Amino acid sequence: MSIASEIKRFNTELPQGVKLVAVSKFHPAEAVLEAYNAGQRIFGESRPQEFAAKCKALPNDIEWHFIGHLQTNKLKMVLPYASLVQSVDSPHLLDAINAWGLKEGRQVNILLELHLGAEETKQGFTSDEIEDVLSNSGKYAGVCFRGLMGMATNTDDEDVIKADFQRIADLHKKLRNEHPELTCFTELSIGMSDDYRIALNYAPTYVRIGTAIFGPRVY
Ligand SMILES: *Cc1c(COP(=O)(O)O)cnc(C)c1O
Repeated sequence: MSIASEIKRFNTELPQGVKLVAVSKFHPAEAVLEAYNAGQRIFGESRPQEFAAKCKALPNDIEWHFIGHLQTNKLKMVLPYASLVQSVDSPHLLDAINAWGLKEGRQVNILLELHLGAEETKQGFTSDEIEDVLSNSGKYAGVCFRGLMGMATNTDDEDVIKADFQRIADLHKKLRNEHPELTCFTELSIGMSDDYRIALNYAPTYVRIGTAIFGPRVY
């Protein structure tokens, strides 16, 4: 299967309103270009240095999403180029991005990452923390809250994955009802190569697909 044919397959398979983020981390610029030439325009990267290098080297009508853990000392590598930071995973990082946005006179588009799954090491906000942040959204003039992102538990047990997606979809819906003032809080980013077919039952607006497009990553 070629990269171009996988892009075309996803464009056919994904329902209207579900945007494909092609996750190109660990794959060379040529692979990104192959997807680009097949019409793909949204790409996701998870390492700041690689993100910045690809943003500078590749066509400037690409919409770059940052999807990895971001340390506050790496903001300058990422924020100038990111159309969307999907992986805002702690109050500390949120505060730092907000401060950067205020200083630059910009609003940085972000998704809040909800902690899903059992693994204790995983990053992400609790739902209480997210409720808290959005109730004080006036404090965050340097960011624009665009929605939620989550990664389901890494398991073969479909029921566990479904419960994770249900939880984030329910929270997203609840927050939209509670905060009609956040008019841009519309995005729900769930689903990766192994679980996007399940995610499609929970009305995502983004799926983030790496391996199924570009093949296995060589670390
Ligand atoms: C790597 C990554 C993906 C893509 O994973 P695949 O299993 O290769 O599709 C999606 N989301 C995040 C946050 C990632 O880090």
